[in-house]
Amino acid sequence: GAASPMFADQASGSIFNRWNGKPYSQNFHHILDKRKTLPVWQHKEEILDALKKNQVLVLVGETGSGKTTQIPQFVLEMMMVETTPSDDKRRKKMMVGCTQPRRVAAMSVSQRVAEEMDVTLGEEVGYTIRFEDKSSPNTVLNYLTDGMLLREAMTDPLLKSYSAIILDEAHERTVATDILFGLLKQVLRSRPDLKVVVMSATLEAEKFQGYFGGEAPLIKVPGRLHDVEVFYTAESQRDYVEAAIQTVVQVHMCEGPGDVLLFLTGEEEIEDACRNIAKEIGNLGGQVGPATIIPLYSTLPPALQQKVFEPAPGTRKIVVSTNIAETSLTIDGIVYVVDPGFVKRKVYDPRVGAESLQVTPISKASAEQRKGRAGRTAPGKCYRLYTEKSFDKDLQSQTDPEIVRSNLGTTFLTMKKLGIDDLVHFDYMDPPAPKTLERALEMLYYLGAMDDEGNLTKLGQIMSEFPLDPQTAKTLIVSPEFNCSNEILSICAMLSVPNCFVRPPKGEARRKAADEAKARFAHIEGDHLTLLNIYHAFKLNNEDPSWCYENFINYKAMKSADNVRQQLARIMSRYNLRMCSTEFGSRDYYVNIRKAILAGCFMQVAHLERSTGHYLTVKDNQVVHLHPSTCLDHNPQWVVYNECVVTSRSFIRTTTDIRGEWLLDIAPHFYEMENFPECEAKRVLKTLYKKRGREMEKSKNRR
Ligand code: ADP
Ligand code: MG
Repeated sequence: GAASPMFADQASGSIFNRWNGKPYSQNFHHILDKRKTLPVWQHKEEILDALKKNQVLVLVGETGSGKTTQIPQFVLEMMMVETTPSDDKRRKKMMVGCTQPRRVAAMSVSQRVAEEMDVTLGEEVGYTIRFEDKSSPNTVLNYLTDGMLLREAMTDPLLKSYSAIILDEAHERTVATDILFGLLKQVLRSRPDLKVVVMSATLEAEKFQGYFGGEAPLIKVPGRLHDVEVFYTAESQRDYVEAAIQTVVQVHMCEGPGDVLLFLTGEEEIEDACRNIAKEIGNLGGQVGPATIIPLYSTLPPALQQKVFEPAPGTRKIVVSTNIAETSLTIDGIVYVVDPGFVKRKVYDPRVGAESLQVTPISKASAEQRKGRAGRTAPGKCYRLYTEKSFDKDLQSQTDPEIVRSNLGTTFLTMKKLGIDDLVHFDYMDPPAPKTLERALEMLYYLGAMDDEGNLTKLGQIMSEFPLDPQTAKTLIVSPEFNCSNEILSICAMLSVPNCFVRPPKGEARRKAADEAKARFAHIEGDHLTLLNIYHAFKLNNEDPSWCYENFINYKAMKSADNVRQQLARIMSRYNLRMCSTEFGSRDYYVNIRKAILAGCFMQVAHLERSTGHYLTVKDNQVVHLHPSTCLDHNPQWVVYNECVVTSRSFIRTTTDIRGEWLLDIAPHFYEMENFPECEAKRVLKTLYKKRGREMEKSKNRR
């Protein structure tokens, strides 16, 4: 085989980096030595050889074998042997794109790879995630979320800016990755020059190979796993968070050196657990060694995310992470894994049409991946906080692909925009249930995004331009009709960023102060309006970080909302959507805003049933509760909500008070009585319709 071309310049003694013409730093060589020990390096020739001979290659390798960081560099090198740093035009055409299902992974990995290539992040190596594009015309290697690549395909259907696409973490089977599979299969036919690498951490890869007609070679990179001893609990645990905390503390007290990785399900749970672990270890005082406790979840600011990779000499690192650490990010030095067996994921029941985030048991495949994280550098131990019987009997063998458990509204909008006419007969790797397809089409139809024939309407076209879910996009697009687009824009921006409220980690007094601060912004008619208050206050206080600090507001979240707002405003102006406000003193100021929200989200409405005191979602009749974080100080008869979250109960989060009459005015096609299941809400609506009828009658008579 040929000598490895990427370092040909080094072999020839060049000390200059081919990407930016600068001399290589000391760090470059240091990292390079380390990189060369990664398992994928042993297969470099084989991989590149297979890719030269084939358009598609499937690559399976244990997490940590170097797939995400190394393969894109190998491919890049293969595609760019002949270019020079000044050859910009060529370069652009030769970009390598590597998709990631998770934003965090795209950010974190691109940063690492920029360091490995000895270039600046955002220049030769970049990343693109929703609302944040850190790539430039110089970018030759871009890490982007699978959703962003789909969006790019909307304007560049043949993906002409790429010479190679790497679908990473394909085993995650996100909706976007699944759609990309189908799309790439088509694109490959018209672009014989395009190379595609599908990378996966699990053996399901054979399915990917089959999808491409069996022509794609499959290369397996064996991992270097050490033995991991598995422990199960004798009984099932009632409180898995508490059990997890105790296990972590126990490990820290009794086990030899090595870092700990605990899997939990979400931000709040993780932050709470970190605090409690710190407290318990603190209580042990000098009996135990020092520990560095590090949270890891997707809404954590990037600088804090990076902390998991920093060594913590002299202490034991305890990482408390979401599923991100299962296969997306590799943290070196983990010897102990604590696995409660749960994950938060999207669950969708097409019969009732509600999509929600739920804490659910993981699959056997996930459990095995988690266990594997303990054996990368040395023999390890994995504590499963469930019984062996439960592992054998209760856990599913694989996680279902996301496409069979999602509401496909957003996806369908994108697919239509991509020119995929027949959504039902698209070449899905796993087709969604007919009921799910039907539901999604129905939703787009109700929103006015699609006509009777299933074609995108003008409104649907514009909706697809916004990087928002269809309901939010519609709210924004119709907001000028309610004379409140300035305000709705702010609310949509706030809804698109992480929670802006800071919950102080410790101290009763601080917590009380935070609650009081929040109460000062609270709008009693709803959480959407509260978000608007906060955004306004932030701007009025000149985006002052210390004002944020004093008011327990997350400054970074606010800055990013401001940035998102500008991006959305640009799209609005492109479509001549008017920026306007109702006069603040007017009684209609908030009424108009509430109506506009309803105009997009009329399918996310719940009604308070007097008989039971519970909220039921309209048409689906699911019992839901107002989320404890709500600012509503009363239980309105009707509420519109932003999302449904299921933990021990089903909660609707970000809710606003609306009036039943508005439903008849704003969404009569959805609130017609014929297809409405029997319930209290229906009876109330019927009364409203009758009243409406009488009033019309009266005014006719008067005339
Ligand atoms: P894979 O994609 O096969 O799971 P990666 O390419 O993500 O593997 O990781 C390979 C190795 O690169 C890891 O074991 C780790 O040593 C190193 N690495 C990856 N990301 C970082 C980072 N942000 N900081 C330091 N080292 C990293
Ligand atoms: Mg990876």
